[in-house]
This record gives sequence, structure tokens and C-alpha cells, in this order.
Amino acid sequence: MEIVTAPEPTGARVRLRPEIAALPPYRQGRPAPADGFKLSSNENPFGPLPSVVEVVASAAHDINRYPDATALALRERLAERFGVTADEVLIGAGSVALLAQFILAAAAPGDEVVYSWRSFEAYPGLVTVAGATSVMVPNRADHGHDLDAMAAAITDRTRVVIVCSPNNPTGVVVTAAEFEAFMAKVPADRLVLLDEAYAEFVRGDGSADDAVDGATLIGRYPNLVMLRTFSKAYGLAGLRVGYAIGPVELLDAARATAIPLGVTAAAASAAIASLEPAAEAELLERVGAIADRRDRVHATLVAQGWPVPVARSNFVWLPAGEATTAVAERLFDAGIVTRAFAPDGIRISIGEEESVDILLTILGELVPGSQEGHPQ
Ligand SMILES: *Cc1c(COP(=O)(O)O)cnc(C)c1O
Repeated sequence: MEIVTAPEPTGARVRLRPEIAALPPYRQGRPAPADGFKLSSNENPFGPLPSVVEVVASAAHDINRYPDATALALRERLAERFGVTADEVLIGAGSVALLAQFILAAAAPGDEVVYSWRSFEAYPGLVTVAGATSVMVPNRADHGHDLDAMAAAITDRTRVVIVCSPNNPTGVVVTAAEFEAFMAKVPADRLVLLDEAYAEFVRGDGSADDAVDGATLIGRYPNLVMLRTFSKAYGLAGLRVGYAIGPVELLDAARATAIPLGVTAAAASAAIASLEPAAEAELLERVGAIADRRDRVHATLVAQGWPVPVARSNFVWLPAGEATTAVAERLFDAGIVTRAFAPDGIRISIGEEESVDILLTILGELVPGSQEGHPQ
């Protein structure tokens, strides 16, 4: 019998799109030690409600069937809530999936996507995958979007502008007045995505100086789509479900670029169960507790001397600059995993109450400029 040996490796590489091969591989960040705290992914520290666990468990009996392709029951629930038709609601496997779908629907190679930077770390990769080009407009010194500069960055090639409020990772909101002034400058034939993944944590007062609220803008602009998610406030990050509300024609285009059947029946039913009045009241109470905790963390850090911007999200931004890696390491050694973006700063999610004292004690010792002195 002839022995066939494998061909010598020639060193030839499979031909991939070079811009894709150059993307940094996804690294989810280090897991928290067993007795530590994972404050790196803006997850909800509260476990799922029993009523939600129950519907997910019962969905398991039907997993031999495909889900409803458009999650109609969930669309109807959301449509009722926001005063739109079910056709003006699009469900996705997390709002990251929806972002990808809208970018693919509007931007092709040669086209530009404008967004603020630093912002959500998923944006650059999604734009590259679409073959389009990112135009990153630096945040203002106060870590908010520079909407004037973003409007000025729109060219003939611009197809999408992403506005993230509250901005991940800085927690700063775009105000309603700023957003409306911005929309007045954006040509009506360019898609604007308002990414409101943290909307429920804002606790706005509804004034024009206050945070933009996509829900109040529905139907006002032919080119505006609002994106929200069940991952953060509703604690369903592991199930992957988010939604878009906007003009039907835009949602149809985004539906066309989706990988079909991405939203599972378990995810859709868990979202519906989370919108049941009693369940939602409890979930929003938790959101309130997280927002209180956030305000306490923010106030303490500011009193310690950290220049932390006002956070309206479920995380705070610590502009640690060149000390970013060192500070993140110190926190890690104490069992707290954060998201470090060297050399800018560290995003710290608001997690379990038990994490707060540890966090604040360590950061109190690391305030810039205090090492030589004697901080109180
Ligand atoms: C978390 C997050 C999302 C959505 O996450 P999904 O889990 O995919 O719904 C979208 N945008 C921003 C800015 C986020 O931080």
C-alpha cells in the first residue's frame, strides 16, 4: 500500500480580505477571579427574574423549531409602547447586530461612516466589515460628542452617522437641543443611528438641556433610527435581543442585510416577559439602584480628585491617561476587572454593591498627583 504523505507546507496563506485579516482578534477581557467582580462589560449585576427564567426554560421545549423570523409578538409589544406600527420596529440579535445590519444596508466600499471617538469599540470593526471607511471625530475635552465637528465631517461619501448617547465608554450624553441642532445640519438623505443602549439609566427631566430621548423623536426625521437593547437595563445580555425603531423603508433595508433567524424564541419571549408590568417595575427599580450607586461612585471619585465626567449610564469613565494600564492592573490585583483603553482611560461598570468600597478605596490611593502628597 502506498503511503501518502501530507504535502509540505508551502507557507502559502489562505487569501482573506486584507482589511479583515488586519482586524484585532476579539478579546473578551480577562474573567474575574472567583471572589472578584467583573466590571468590564457593562452587564447588569442582578440575575434574571424568576418569571424570565421560567419563559426561557419553557422555550427550551420547542428548540427543534425555528423561531418566528421577525419576532412579531415582541414587535407588537414595543410598537404599542412607542406608539408606532409593528413595521416600524425591527428586532435584532442584540443591538450590535442591528448596527451591523444598518451599516451594511447603507455603506459600501468607498463610503464613509462618521462617529465620535472614543466611543463604542464595536463601531470600527463593523464599518470595516462593511468595506466602508471610518471617519472618527475626536470627543470634546468634556468627553462628549463634538456634534458640530461631526456635522462638518459629513462629505458626499458619508452614508451613516452614529450618535451614541450616553456615550460608551465616557458616559456623557448628547442633549436634546444639541441633537436637534445637529439633525438640522445633516442632509436628510444620510442615515443617522442614535445608539441608546443605556437610555434607561439616564433619568432625564425632559428639558431641552437634558439628554436626547429617541422615543420623543419618533416620526420626526425620515433619516433617523433609534437603537435600544435588552442587554443592559433589562439584564438579558446573554440572550442577545435589541430593537430599532424608525421609518419602515430603512428597517426593511436593514432586515435585508441580516443573517436570517438570528433572534431566538427564548430571547424574544424573555424580552416580552421583561415588559410585563410587574416584571418591568422590578427591573426598573434595579436600574434605579444601579443609577444611585453610579451617582455615589461618581461623587466619591470627584471628591477624591479624579476628573470623572458626569455619567448617565451604568458605568463611569476614569480618564487615567498614561496611568491607565497601571491603575487597571492595581484594580485587577484586588479582584476588580475593568476595561482599560490605554492611553485614554478606564471604563468601570457599576456592578455589585460589594464591589463599590473596594473600588473606591483603591482609586482613592491612586489619584493622579497624590502619590507624593498625603491625600486625606
Ligand atoms: C452594549 C452596547 C450595545 C448593544 O449591545 P447588545 O448586547 O448587542 O444589544 C450597543 N451599543 C452600545 C454603545 C453598547 O454599549
